[in-house]
Amino acid sequence: MAENTVLKYVQCPSCHGCDVRRSYPKGLIDRVMIRSGKSPLRCRGCEYRFYRKLAPNERLGRPDLSEEKDPVL
Ligand SMILES: [Zn+2]
Repeated sequence: MAENTVLKYVQCPSCHGCDVRRSYPKGLIDRVMIRSGKSPLRCRGCEYRFYRKLAPNERLGRPDLSEEKDPVL
């Protein structure tokens, strides 16, 4: 069993930023995409909307809000 639990942040395919959040599904296309395993995502940096199948080790969010890097005081 290879335990490869390196967390990765999902990158926007347009601007390669990591400020990506889950987008609320709207309409039929989103439902179809979700059924095929892809979540609708939105980049906060450039407003680009895309679909992506999230791997178990992938996380959404900003790198500067990472829980690992900044211990709570
Ligand atoms: Zn972007």
